Amino acid sequence: MVLVNPQSGRGQALQLFSGQIEPMLTEASIPYTLVITEHQNHARDLVRETDLSQWDALVILSGDGLLFEVLNGLLEREDWEEAIQTPLGILPGGSGNALAASEYDIILYEEIANELLLSCGFLLCKGLVTRLDLVSVHLASSQRIFSFLSLAWGFVADIDIESEKYRLVGPMRFLVGTLMRLASLRVYQGRLAYLPAPPSTPQNSSLFNRKGPPDSLLADLEQPVPEHWTVVNEEDFVLVLAMFQSHLAEDLFAAPGATADDGFIHLLYVRAGISRLALLTLFMTMEKGGHLAIGCPHLVYERVKAFRLEPLSPEGAITVDGEMVEYGPVQAQVHEGIARLISG
Ligand code: ADP
Ligand code: MG
Repeated sequence: MVLVNPQSGRGQALQLFSGQIEPMLTEASIPYTLVITEHQNHARDLVRETDLSQWDALVILSGDGLLFEVLNGLLEREDWEEAIQTPLGILPGGSGNALAASEYDIILYEEIANELLLSCGFLLCKGLVTRLDLVSVHLASSQRIFSFLSLAWGFVADIDIESEKYRLVGPMRFLVGTLMRLASLRVYQGRLAYLPAPPSTPQNSSLFNRKGPPDSLLADLEQPVPEHWTVVNEEDFVLVLAMFQSHLAEDLFAAPGATADDGFIHLLYVRAGISRLALLTLFMTMEKGGHLAIGCPHLVYERVKAFRLEPLSPEGAITVDGEMVEYGPVQAQVHEGIARLISG
């Protein structure tokens, strides 16, 4: 099943499909059914209900947002354990194509974005499947969602949200958003704690009682974090960014050490007090993944298994895989390799 979001990116996903992907599938004699999404959550509802035995793979031609819907739909099913084994394919057609870029682990610019699509189409035809980590994210309303890419708060989350209005410029929208945000840089108050990798003893909590994999590393969100967790001393941040793949966007190589199934959350945070110039430098060097090597004293990077973030600022935004979620305390843990991705 090929799911296309006709609104994604510059609104050309359908043309990308018929122009580039359809001929490849035809030549490779791969039969498919095309589904054009009509609204947000259409794909999520569809994969929650569909008879999955009909499909060898679910393929998304859109940005990261549509894959987010599909993964969450699969994990909302009664048979989630089997459903999440369905191979997933990603064909970059959106304005945020971080997973596709992460699969390649190369630096891509807008001029060659079409080559990324062709390359992913080629991988799709080959049909090799690898494992993909997912991260379960708990929100204050006790809702749980699954993420494959990132959780952001502060500077990066604000850019995610604000840059939506520049989506017509395509992947460049993050750069435009970054420059706008730098002009009105602010500090966000909150508490951050994490479980350093490798993991320690599982917790026993009420979090077992639902569909999807149990979150054995987390205590209830209303309870303090487990004793062996590391609690960050600072409460003033410019950003907190948890990465589950190497790329935050096609041109943001945020977690150079990350792979799709490494079983880690790559936690980055920037303490308050950083200058605008230093922050700009961080994002410029992030394009090629060099930001961890420039010795920025305000930037901290940890590989963790789980974390909790409790914003204290009354206003702010949190995004998961680039989409805005409920603002408030969140916690998350990684589930190593529970999904499957068509990849090289
Ligand atoms: P982009 O990278 O361009 O943002 P996404 O795949 O992330 O593309 O999709 C953006 C948003 O659009 C997501 O929240 C997705 O759920 C939603 N969406 C999916 N299908 C449609 C549709 N047919 N019309 C409007 N929005 C849709
Ligand atoms: Mg998106």
